[in-house]
Amino acid sequence: MSSAESSSASKVMIVTGASRGIGAAVALLAARRGYAVCVNYHSRSAAADGVVQAIRNAGGTALAVGADVSRQDQVQAMFETVDRELGRVDALVNNAGILEKQTTVENLDADRITRVLATNVVGTFLCCREAVRRMAPRHGGRGGAIVNLSSMASRLGAPGEYVDYAASKGAVDTLTIGLSKEVGADGIRVNGVRPGLIYTEMHASGGEPGRVDRLKDSLPLKRGGTPEEVAAAVLWLCSDESGFTTGSFIDVSGGR
Ligand code: NDP
Repeated sequence: MSSAESSSASKVMIVTGASRGIGAAVALLAARRGYAVCVNYHSRSAAADGVVQAIRNAGGTALAVGADVSRQDQVQAMFETVDRELGRVDALVNNAGILEKQTTVENLDADRITRVLATNVVGTFLCCREAVRRMAPRHGGRGGAIVNLSSMASRLGAPGEYVDYAASKGAVDTLTIGLSKEVGADGIRVNGVRPGLIYTEMHASGGEPGRVDRLKDSLPLKRGGTPEEVAAAVLWLCSDESGFTTGSFIDVSGGR
């Protein structure tokens, strides 16, 4: 873990899974918008340090914190580190997510389904819980914003590829709706972003690194998206410009 640079008046954002892909783009844009950023990672500490260094080189404030979001003790420790090093969290972006090799439901087993749900669903719940415990006025907080990374798969179902992953994102959608109603009166807004066909290394985890290029012509916009285009939607949902928006979703999917 790197130590924080000074951060007196900045708002504080935690981005889970920010060592690469969409999470890294969110962290970099958030820093440019003035947030002090916790760059969470799971296994790629060097990559997370690279994101932190890029933020610092541009004059921003960032801290890399390793934590497996599916582990309650590690999530608690990460939030305590942020309390201590950066200050009370104002924005949480639940971006950490996994998928596994493309297959059919008839070939899934319990271990895989459990792994996918643990990171994508349990992890999102645990981070939301710790954020609410800091943002809600009854805990001394001042409100805040939570953005959950869902997927177009939550509505398309990902047949023949990863229905387990799609179902985990369906759960993220429902969590987003329920929590937004539960904590709206606390000044906490909870929204979702549903990306689709974004150029990241996640598709290699599904066994098809070229998936975006295979499918891009089927999109109304006829191209894949960039992590930066997803980050722009996330940052808007964290900002005061979206102050009357909660329990809502932005599809960043080229019209898919
Ligand atoms: P990547 O595979 O590029 O990055 C995933 C990130 O999540 C990595 O930083 C990884 O950390 C982190 N991560 C994985 N497991 C854990 C864990 N248990 N605890 C903490 N961090 C973890 O994915 P993308 O950038 O493509 O995707 C980001 C989000 O957007 C995901 O939720 C994904 O489902 C969603 N999404 C992406 C789409 C796309 O087309 N790319 C489409 C729809 C949704 P590390 O590398 O350190 O292990």
